[in-house]
Amino acid sequence: MCLDIDDTLIDFTAASRRSLEALIGRTDAWELWERVTDEHVARVVSGELDYAEMHARRTQAFLAELGTCVGLAEAAELEVGRKELLRTSWRLFDDVLPCLEWLTAAGVRVAAVTNASGAHQREKLAGLGLARFFDYVAIAGEVGVAKPDPVMFHSVCFKLGCDMSETVHVGDKLRTDAVGARDAGLGGVWLNRGEADVDVPAGVHVISSLAELPELLVSEFVRIGVPAQR
Ligand SMILES: [Mg+2]
Repeated sequence: MCLDIDDTLIDFTAASRRSLEALIGRTDAWELWERVTDEHVARVVSGELDYAEMHARRTQAFLAELGTCVGLAEAAELEVGRKELLRTSWRLFDDVLPCLEWLTAAGVRVAAVTNASGAHQREKLAGLGLARFFDYVAIAGEVGVAKPDPVMFHSVCFKLGCDMSETVHVGDKLRTDAVGARDAGLGGVWLNRGEADVDVPAGVHVISSLAELPELLVSEFVRIGVPAQR
């Protein structure tokens, strides 16, 4: 069983938006922030940019697009303040712990699979008391590929010791998570926490809460998380 982290387990967007708004004093720049972040994460995944520098460079580029030029050192300082705020404001969705407890009780091997680029994702899981539920944590910046690249999904299956056909991935991004997993030969489940009127591609399962996951697994994926016979 593979689970995305941000906006699947952790209400990351709400916390990020709040901390960004505190940083810049305005509420209309979230889409720009997401785009600039995606561009910089892609540069880390491709090896073009060092992870240690990425956040300051991202914040510098973002502010430049808003018309404010700051040096790298100042961008790094602003980033420290934003992260402090972020660390104190993220929280788990209410459906997460019951779902992870069910998976553990069922003996299913579980991986966290994130497109974030740094080891802070492990600290985040540990800080929220989730580390004990995961057999493996796959971080795009460490693996060198990101979802929806099938290599990302295949490497996680290998680490879990499970065949693709016996592994399911759940995430909040329809293309990156659910369609990517389906195309890589895994079960693809889209966690739609609130978007309406979306055309869901064939072969993708949809749930609106992690509370629906156990029933879906029992009815549709009988052998998930069982290590392959070798
Ligand atoms: Mg996500």
